[in-house]
Amino acid sequence: MKKNDKIELDIVDMTKDGLGLAKVSGQVFFVKDGLIGDKVEAVITKTDKSVIYAKAISIINESKYRVESKCKVSNACGGCQLLNLDYNKQIELKKDYVFNCLKKIGKFDNVPYEGIIPCENIYYFRNKMQVPFVKKNGEIIYGFYAGRTHSIIEFDKCEVGFTGSDIILKAIKFALEEFGISIYDEKNCDGVFREVMLRKGNVSNEVSITYIINDRDYNNHVELYKKFDSFVLDKYNEISETIKQNHCLSLVTSTLNINTNNNNVIFGNKNVVLRGNGYIEDSIGDLKYHISPESFYQVNSYMTKKLYDTILDFASFKTCENVLDLYCGIGTISLYIASFVESVTVVEIVKKAIDNAKENARINDIDNASFLCKDISKWDMYEDLCEKSHCFISGNDENKSNIIDKKIVLKNKTYDTIIVDPPRKGLDNSTISFIKEIIPKKVIYVSCDPATLSRDLDILCHDDDKVYKLVKIKNVDMFPHTMHIETVCLIEQN
Ligand code: SAH
Repeated sequence: MKKNDKIELDIVDMTKDGLGLAKVSGQVFFVKDGLIGDKVEAVITKTDKSVIYAKAISIINESKYRVESKCKVSNACGGCQLLNLDYNKQIELKKDYVFNCLKKIGKFDNVPYEGIIPCENIYYFRNKMQVPFVKKNGEIIYGFYAGRTHSIIEFDKCEVGFTGSDIILKAIKFALEEFGISIYDEKNCDGVFREVMLRKGNVSNEVSITYIINDRDYNNHVELYKKFDSFVLDKYNEISETIKQNHCLSLVTSTLNINTNNNNVIFGNKNVVLRGNGYIEDSIGDLKYHISPESFYQVNSYMTKKLYDTILDFASFKTCENVLDLYCGIGTISLYIASFVESVTVVEIVKKAIDNAKENARINDIDNASFLCKDISKWDMYEDLCEKSHCFISGNDENKSNIIDKKIVLKNKTYDTIIVDPPRKGLDNSTISFIKEIIPKKVIYVSCDPATLSRDLDILCHDDDKVYKLVKIKNVDMFPHTMHIETVCLIEQN
């Protein structure tokens, strides 16, 4: 078959990118806008070695799992691919996907699966919105990128973004027009305003606004940006009043992020706080957290506590345990479990996130946590964790730190439990080797990518030594309407 040919296809599954999957005489088709259970007429858009890409142009028989999408632009927008698929079916597909990865990539015959926790609120659950602004036909517009492209799909209100975010975005658009601030054009790399990042504390309702700008001379324009930000605030209040929607949001802080690079990386390295403390506060369970714009924070706050409770449940911590938490962000997991264990040591690449983690320990009166700012992929873990004592100081208790240190030097096995929560690419070989060498009793692996998780579990559990076995695995759905899924695993010494 070739481009522009038409074909009738039965969609039998979904890919991890949310495309419909069809097979005809062994040939695999990935079909945009095709949903599992649909029979569609599709046009071929691209042929690859093993896969033919197509786009559904009409539905011949509609899937029984189709529901009406709440969002008018969900087909075009790259954000949610499954908004018109029944949520129970979404959950089933994610479960199947995780099982398939564990079987095919992880080579596990028996998966000790403990189920999936569905999302409580499947709309307006995202606490973070990252929205590019562009100029189209002379008008300022904002939206999300259509999947794998650079064209912006405008939206009036995002059905998964936090309630009230649409009003902030409208206020920013008004302010850009009022102040005549130019909009960044990625083709010519000129213009100032690139994107905005909004983040909301689910419990506190505090919101931070980060304006991402291409302005080398920002130092001379800070006063202007402060006025701009005040205007946004006033406009937000005015619009909320007019449409009689008071969402109780507290726009507590705004930051400029200076990004003068001509690439796809969203944030630049320099931040200037325009208003407030530069962070929002939020709570998970009984703990409070400070969160700066540069730091990672789980995007679905409704489910974060369930994720962390699953970790607590799987780990069954004992009070004598020392825990190492790799890829810790602002220390949310470690501080959540700190009262159940002897000590936690957290490791993270983003300096500001480590600053947040230290502050978060302080505001929650947690004194058994230590902090390391390291790039784990390049980090000499042995040097820091197996020889030196300075990173094991717990609070101000010198004796306690000595005891922990002796244990490391004597046994050369530092930790009872290691928690890892890496980005999608999974663990580096050096991290896996380190785990195999120091052999903690338990590893809790938190993953947002079942494929790399399965690859890493295979290496951890199926080597010649057979030190580890996969004991429990559970999913938490943090990302409704996409094929993304969070997984928590417990691996224990055999
Ligand atoms: N466990 C945390 C964060 C998980 S997200 C939570 O639940 O909130 C993954 C984190 O790993 C991010 O904070 C990211 O900044 C960090 N990270 C990514 N690559 C890293 C690396 N090479 N070394 C250390 N940390 C890294």
